[in-house]
Amino acid sequence: MTIHHHPSDETLLRLAAGTLGAGPALVVSVHLESCAHCRWRLSGFEAMGGALLEEMRPVPLAADLFGRTIERLEAIPPEPAREPPPRKQPALGMDLPRALRHCDVGPWRWLGPGFHWSKVTIAGSPEAKVMLLKGRTGLHLPAHGHTGLEFMQVLSGSLADERGRYFPGDLDEADDEVDHRPVVGEESECICLAALEGDTRLHGLLGRLLRPFVGF
Ligand SMILES: [Zn+2]
Repeated sequence: MTIHHHPSDETLLRLAAGTLGAGPALVVSVHLESCAHCRWRLSGFEAMGGALLEEMRPVPLAADLFGRTIERLEAIPPEPAREPPPRKQPALGMDLPRALRHCDVGPWRWLGPGFHWSKVTIAGSPEAKVMLLKGRTGLHLPAHGHTGLEFMQVLSGSLADERGRYFPGDLDEADDEVDHRPVVGEESECICLAALEGDTRLHGLLGRLLRPFVGF
């Protein structure tokens, strides 16, 4: 898989610092599953954050602090690793990325001719605006602009807009400068995972139709 579109430095920094919203963080996690380049970039940012914290340390630490901390940690009985059981998910006709296995994923719902969506709910962050979108070949998605960021990871098929073409593995970040109208490629249907940060204004007739369904 050749990936051409990646999350921005700012997004990866926010993920490393834990300040990226739960929805965008989920979309970026799905990107990281298939992008070794971004996993490497993220580990760099994490190391940088650790070094900064180290420098910001206000008081010198007691010489034996490390030894005492290890002693205390060793005294705590180990807890068996507990991974939450995978959620029950409807058959969507696709393999879900690993990062989605612990989310509630709804069934495909009709949005318009050749256009379906499925609501993704993140445990602990029910307010996150995340969804799977499925469009048939050649579908013109509703034109829309943003007052926040839109994160979209292509899972299958392809999409194109005024800025380029997006294939499986690609992540597109569209900010409020972008007023775009994506079109699904002709080779197959396209499935994307999308998260919104802030508001998305949907234009046009289909946009107005979408609003009450999607709720944002
Ligand atoms: Zn990447």
